[in-house]
Amino acid sequence: MTQRLYLMDSHLFENQCTVLSCEPAKEGFDVIVDSTVFFPNKGGQPCDTGTLGAVRVTDVRERGDELILRTDGPLSVGETVTGHIDEGRRLDIMEQHTGEHILSWCAYKLFDAVNVGFHCALTYATLDLDKPLTPEQVTAMEDMANALVRRNLAVTATIYESEDDLKGVPLRKHAEGLIAPIRVVSIENADSCTCCAPHVHFTGEIGAVKIVAAVAYKGGMRMTFLCGGRAMQQFQKLQMTVDAIARKFSTAGEEVLAAVEKQESELKEVKKEKAALTARLEEYLTAELKAQAEDVKGKKLLVQLTDTDPKRLRPLALATLPEKGLTLLLTEKAGQLTYVLCSNGLKLDMGELIPAVNLALGGKGGGRGTLAQGSAPAQAGLPETVEQLRGYLKQRLAN
Ligand SMILES: [Zn+2]
Repeated sequence: MTQRLYLMDSHLFENQCTVLSCEPAKEGFDVIVDSTVFFPNKGGQPCDTGTLGAVRVTDVRERGDELILRTDGPLSVGETVTGHIDEGRRLDIMEQHTGEHILSWCAYKLFDAVNVGFHCALTYATLDLDKPLTPEQVTAMEDMANALVRRNLAVTATIYESEDDLKGVPLRKHAEGLIAPIRVVSIENADSCTCCAPHVHFTGEIGAVKIVAAVAYKGGMRMTFLCGGRAMQQFQKLQMTVDAIARKFSTAGEEVLAAVEKQESELKEVKKEKAALTARLEEYLTAELKAQAEDVKGKKLLVQLTDTDPKRLRPLALATLPEKGLTLLLTEKAGQLTYVLCSNGLKLDMGELIPAVNLALGGKGGGRGTLAQGSAPAQAGLPETVEQLRGYLKQRLAN
C-alpha cells in the first residue's frame, strides 16, 4: 500500500519513491508507488498533478486501498523516481479548502448553520449550508472568516487511533463511516473536524476569503467563494472593469454607480422622446404614402419600397390602407427584404396573391384574408421587380 505523505505534511511537494507496478491504461499508464506526495480526487476537490520521474502525472485516484497515479508514459517496476506535484495548484486548492473550513465554522458558530456540501473546482469553490442566511448574515460570516485569517491561526492535523480516543474532542463535523485511524483537522481555538485533505499551516496563508454568490439551494443555501490568489485575481479583474467604466464617465470609481444611474434616467427620457418623434414621423410618412396611391378602376393601389424599420412595416402598411384598395410595402435592411401585403374592402384574398409576390421576390411568406407578409434575401434589381409587382397587382385589382 502507498504511504500517503500529504496526510502529515501538506507542504511537502516532492519525494523519492519506488515504482511498485505500472500497467497500460486506456489513456496512459496506471502506476502504484511505495510512497507519495500526490493527493487524489477526493472529498469534493481535484487531485494533484505533477511529474513522476520523466513522465507527467495527469490524474490521481483511489482504487480500494490503493492510490493510482495516471501517467502519460511508462515507468519500470523497481525504479526509484522523484515525484513532484504542481506546487501552485496544491497551494491554490489548499487555500480554497482551508477557507471552506473557516467559513463553515463561522456559519456554525454565528447562525448554527451546518455545512452539507463542498465542491472545489479549478476556478471556483462552493459550500452548501442546511439553512438560508440573509445578505447581512452572509456578510457577517465573511467578516468573521477574514478576521480568523488575519489572526494567522495554526492549522494542525491529528491522527486518532480509535473512536474512543476521539471522545471529548469537540468536532463540528464527524464524517460518517470512517474507519480508524481517524484524522482530525483543527484550527487553533476554533474549528475541528474530520478531514483527509491537505490544508495550509496557518490561516494567514489564505490571505482573503470572499463570498461572491449566495443563492437558495435545496432548502438551504449554496455559496460560491474565492480564497487567496483567486480572490485577489477577481478583485483585480473587477477593479479594471470599474476603472474602465469610470473612465468612460470621466468620474472616479466610487462615483460610477451614480453616473450609470444618471445615464439610465437620461436614456429613459431619450427613448420616450424617440418614440414620440417616431410616431410623428410615421404620421407624415403615412400621409405621404397615401398620396402616392394610384386609382385603378375606382379602387386604390399603393406599392412602395420604403426605408422604414422592418418592425414598423406592418403598422405602416395597415395605416396606409385606403377605404377600398390594396397596399404592398417593402423595406430592405441588413441584407433582408421584408414585405407586407394588405387590403381593405376587396373580395380578393391576400393568401391567393402572396404566392406571386413570393415568387417574384424569391421569398417566403404567407397569410390569408386581408393580410399577408413575407421576407426574402436582399437582391439586385429590386426597383424593377417592384414595378413588375405593381403591374401584376394593378391587373388583379382591375379584374
Ligand atoms: Zn479539510
